[in-house]
Amino acid sequence: MAEFKNLTVGSEGEAITLGRRGKLRVPDNPIIPFIEGDGIGGDITRASMRVWDAAVAKAFDGKRKVAWLEVYAGEKAYEKFGEWIPEDTFEALRQFHVSIKGPLTTPVGGGIRSLNVTFRQVLDLYSCVRPVRYFRGVPSPVKRPGDLDVVIFRENTEDVYSGIEYREGTDAAQKVIDFLNHEMGAHVRPDSGVGIKPISITGTKRHVRKAIQYAIANKLPKVTLVHKGNIMKFTEGAFRDWGYELAREEFADKVITEEDVWSKHNGEIPKGMIMINDRIADSIFQQVLLRPTEYSVLVTPNLNGDYLSDACAAQVGGLGMAPGANIGDTVALFEATHGTAPKYAGKDMVNPGSLMLSGAMMFDHMGWKKAATLIRRGIQGAIKQKRVTYDLERQMKGATKVSTSQFAEAIVENM
Ligand code: NAP
Repeated sequence: MAEFKNLTVGSEGEAITLGRRGKLRVPDNPIIPFIEGDGIGGDITRASMRVWDAAVAKAFDGKRKVAWLEVYAGEKAYEKFGEWIPEDTFEALRQFHVSIKGPLTTPVGGGIRSLNVTFRQVLDLYSCVRPVRYFRGVPSPVKRPGDLDVVIFRENTEDVYSGIEYREGTDAAQKVIDFLNHEMGAHVRPDSGVGIKPISITGTKRHVRKAIQYAIANKLPKVTLVHKGNIMKFTEGAFRDWGYELAREEFADKVITEEDVWSKHNGEIPKGMIMINDRIADSIFQQVLLRPTEYSVLVTPNLNGDYLSDACAAQVGGLGMAPGANIGDTVALFEATHGTAPKYAGKDMVNPGSLMLSGAMMFDHMGWKKAATLIRRGIQGAIKQKRVTYDLERQMKGATKVSTSQFAEAIVENM
């Protein structure tokens, strides 16, 4: 194990390790690093820990317990160590394999685009996973929000988010435009800013592999490749083609194409098989509204996934409850999907649901499914009793407004 500079690991817990083929070996008292986060991070982390610890204790009769290890990023790290993300933090996330974080302020200036993006890049967390499911009673803008129950896999490292951009009017932009116009036969207006959209075989295949593995592990019936390949043929269209290719190469005994389901099986997915299909990005936005029950795992390049996951979250009642994770080959970082909401910081007011449910995802990932189920049951129970934080209370008839910490207590009572 690498040494830490400023971090002391207590003697209480044991490290999660990786077994064969990257499978996690989870001890009964795993060390799990957490980043509290900025703004409302402290409020939601405290409330979530209350719920996570209670769920684990109840699920395993006190035989299992997480040894939480605080690691630093964001404003707290900057105050303590003069760095936004100290190397110790990266090292802890690598060494302990599974971790969780609250939201982080994006520093203004200082050359850092976003701390979240930095984590994804440094730790190569190439798939962003966003499950979207409805909790009965949460106000939603659609008639049957419960029909949508999908997991979105958004590629995290490529596409127009790769950071290759040239500002209009700079020498660099001019160079790129000249190259395109003079050597490639393109017609780019000289007063353009330019961004580059790389999508690779490597990036696509490892991402689609994760999504199919997830569908298999969770017995989900369908994997849908979402793309805009009719227009961007060599990036988005290639994403679709490489996705199918990967399914054929590595999962031929478990995955069947939609075409084969119709041409060979009368539209019925053979038992034990997963159907892979694809949809164009604009169509999937209609489909999740009009035929939500037909989808289970949606696999997307970076930009489509960004839009689609927020739209789906809104459909089932908003981002305040939407969990998420960033996953690579050896590291998984679970996170609240909303920001730091600074105006509510320290007020014990906001909804901790997103972070709590990210914790439930984390327990699922560790194989502690009973604890995950208790967290979801507790949240569903508190919502059913209409004991909810301000954001839900203002939209629900006859609800009781509770604080962040009271919401946590209501959840624990309902487990
Ligand atoms: P935000 O922090 O998500 O807050 C926007 C609004 O969303 C809040 O004013 C509040 O709405 C609502 N909201 C967010 N979280 C909530 C919660 N847990 N419970 C109830 N309501 C919640 O977005 P922002 O103001 O655009 O961003 C603030 C900072 O967060 C920025 O520095 C941004 O870069 C950062 N950020 C970080 C992450 C991340 O770390 N993953 C993600 C997004 C943004 P009402 O006022 O209407 O109640």
